[in-house]
Amino acid sequence: MSYVTGLRCSRCGTRYDASTGPTLCLRHDLGRLDITYDIARVGRSLTRGSLRKRGTDIWRYHELLPVPSTYAVRLHEGGTPLIAAHRLGAHLGLKHLYLKDETRNPTASFKDRAMAVGVAKARQLGAHTVVTASSGNAAAALAAYAAKANLTCYAFVLEGASVGKLAQLGLYGAHILKVRAVRPGQDPTVSLLLDAVRARGWYPCPSFGPFNPYQVEGPKTISYELGEKFGEAGPDWVLIPTGSTCLLAGIFRGFRDFHRLGLLDSIPHLAPVQPAGNAAFTRAVQAKRRFGEIEPEPHPSTVAAGLSDPFPWDGDVGLEAVRVSQGAAVAVPDPAILEAARDLARFEGVFAEPSGAAGVAGLRSLLEQGHLDSKDRVVVLVTGSGLKDLRSVAVRDMRTIAPEADALGRLLRL
Ligand SMILES: *Cc1c(COP(=O)(O)O)cnc(C)c1O
Ligand SMILES: [Zn+2]
Repeated sequence: MSYVTGLRCSRCGTRYDASTGPTLCLRHDLGRLDITYDIARVGRSLTRGSLRKRGTDIWRYHELLPVPSTYAVRLHEGGTPLIAAHRLGAHLGLKHLYLKDETRNPTASFKDRAMAVGVAKARQLGAHTVVTASSGNAAAALAAYAAKANLTCYAFVLEGASVGKLAQLGLYGAHILKVRAVRPGQDPTVSLLLDAVRARGWYPCPSFGPFNPYQVEGPKTISYELGEKFGEAGPDWVLIPTGSTCLLAGIFRGFRDFHRLGLLDSIPHLAPVQPAGNAAFTRAVQAKRRFGEIEPEPHPSTVAAGLSDPFPWDGDVGLEAVRVSQGAAVAVPDPAILEAARDLARFEGVFAEPSGAAGVAGLRSLLEQGHLDSKDRVVVLVTGSGLKDLRSVAVRDMRTIAPEADALGRLLRL
């Protein structure tokens, strides 16, 4: 049984029937096909009581996903821990700081939530070949789910993609196509993806909205999980590492769904966090620009590879998310991102890649700007594992010791 009422292009407003399974607007205007649900019917089935009897993966919220769960390809995505970060909180001056540890997903980033839904839809539509454009994590996630579903997977990735992400892609059996950036402000993997989709009929599954309306529904489940954990009051603030703004859009829609269902009193303040070297969306929020006025970052430059999309593809919903939630957008320099990764590890035992730790770097800025109060209940999404990208990790304090009985004593006296 489906609760989807239809799809509507975010650019031209054309409506599509859900049963035809559209992925792109037929007018080729790069609009996103926004999915609408029959919330009244959803509310009769999805209640705090009915949730008690369900499994922990994302299909727990099947009424608010755009594919029947009979097509689900399951690797235990979602159901990630919420960690009370007492030591990091004390270090920063926050009494109620929590980490939503998305590194615990099957391929070690939150992108699994998206690709689990994208691949389930591919199965329902009878696709044989899936293709993505990605800095790495989305591709790794798609490759894993494609492997499990027995689909052929092509991945256009930027030339600089990290060894960790490429190793995952290779072992999951994806065809890897590395692409060199040539034109400022343009992600070349995206234009190649569109060509492949139009010329070969491959099923597009990158991790932002205008190219696949189904996968973007997956990350909403993070908000549903937080809505369940915190109860009706919800958290006060949620900090979100942001590149293409698809995650921000999903988090907003997820909280809005729970608010409309009466499961949440209000939508928490949402705070997208971008690296200073790729902050087109943050600047747009701060200058109160409209979506159509956003210029892509000509030369993104940051250690946070997962946050390097030059253009915020879902920035229209992203702007709405910050405005409606009365949130704030912040840009943080690379050294602050690296420090955040160190703090997460040494205070909380959580190992994150720079993109995954960027949200923590945003805490200081929000505190300094007076947005955060020390008593607020604050959730930071930790989106990707440190094992994904080891280039930025400098390991110090290593000494070689001789295999002799008194060697340790000698060394510690030094
Ligand atoms: C993709 C990604 C993000 C950002 O998500 P967007 O939807 O592109 O804004 C954040 N962290 C990690 C680890 C990612 O892979
Ligand atoms: Zn359209």
